[in-house]
Amino acid sequence: MATQTKDYYSTLGVKKTASGDDIRKAFRKLARKYHPDVNPGDKKAEEKFKEISEANDVLSDEKKRKIYDQLGFYSDNIDPAAAEAAARGGYGGGFPGGGAGRSGRGAPEVPFDFGGFDFSDFQSGGTGRGGAQEPAGGGFGGSFKDIFGGIFSGGRKAARGPRPGTDLEYQVSVDFWSAVRGGVARLEIQRQETCPACKGKSTTGGSIECPECSGTGQVTQMGGRMKFNIQCPRCNGTGKVQNGCTTCGGDGVVTRNEPLEFRIKPGTRDGQRIRLAGKGNAGTDGGAQGDLYLIIKVGTHPVFTRVGDDIHVTVPVTVVEAALGAKIEVPTIDTHSDGTQAGGGRTQLKIPPGTQTGQKLRLREKGVPSAAHEGKRGDEIVEVKIVVPKVQDERSKEILRELAKLNPEDPRAELLAEV
Ligand SMILES: [Zn+2]
Ligand SMILES: [Zn+2]
Repeated sequence: MATQTKDYYSTLGVKKTASGDDIRKAFRKLARKYHPDVNPGDKKAEEKFKEISEANDVLSDEKKRKIYDQLGFYSDNIDPAAAEAAARGGYGGGFPGGGAGRSGRGAPEVPFDFGGFDFSDFQSGGTGRGGAQEPAGGGFGGSFKDIFGGIFSGGRKAARGPRPGTDLEYQVSVDFWSAVRGGVARLEIQRQETCPACKGKSTTGGSIECPECSGTGQVTQMGGRMKFNIQCPRCNGTGKVQNGCTTCGGDGVVTRNEPLEFRIKPGTRDGQRIRLAGKGNAGTDGGAQGDLYLIIKVGTHPVFTRVGDDIHVTVPVTVVEAALGAKIEVPTIDTHSDGTQAGGGRTQLKIPPGTQTGQKLRLREKGVPSAAHEGKRGDEIVEVKIVVPKVQDERSKEILRELAKLNPEDPRAELLAEV
């Protein structure tokens, strides 16, 4: 049974010289027209969609397209270098090995016509029988094998066997307090689990005749002007394929929603990545499970701002407190003195005399407990914001004027001197 050579260019309705962009555009246009979502239940449209997808898959990939251009078909098993050699050889002239040798001896170049030739004959060392002229001395078998042996490197074996599951990544929102003090986060993830019906094997045992080669184990492909009998890529030449599992459609995995609960360590930071080993997608055919990565998005607080393990807070201070110095009460992230977990606590802070607005005062070890170093804590940084009194009465105004007289300083002197 022969596999028809497909003209991917005409499938997409583009010229052979079409650019990558042309191909992409042509595919998109056709895909919109034939997409199964647009044509529910329309088998013809579905077939057409498969065809254009296949054509696009090959032509939109530079490496695949090159091989297709050289051989007239594409297979993942083809080594680009061998395709190149086959393309050169297919037109007679510079066949590596025997061919090159002949022209070296000055023999006329005979365009070989390998049409109707079974590649398998070459492989088994047979000599030509098709329309080709018998080359002097025969014995081409060796060089053919060299060239084509590399093209089809062992069917689809790479796709079989255990495959590891992929990793998953989810963003998890955690409120400010849970990130500071620790807690439990809950979310629902969607992951691929090992198919319960086939245990991840993709098949339910037993085999059927391979639909690709009708059980012969071989398919025919044209490459340039040559015809190859190649091992059927679907069944690896066995002529039989395994009965696919209907529960998972042969994927070996099924998609499930799974509720997940995990501990948030005290001091968890915004953007932190938590890895839960083996909680990603299931592998197939005994392949390892992927991992689950949780990216933590920490919520904000109206008063406290977190910078790493430090807590920043802006605290209003009166002019008098700033000028004379004072002991004031400032909010902290510590538990409130009444023992309730909600909200923060307070602590005393000494404002030194002559404190300016914007000045930062440090409360050591009043920050967030470090998630990385047990027992360590960040600091709380208090930024002073001086609040000017809104003076209404005449007596207060008088006092301020008096104050100005006693302290005739120009706060802009330095600034103006700099200009
Ligand atoms: Zn299954
Ligand atoms: Zn087959």
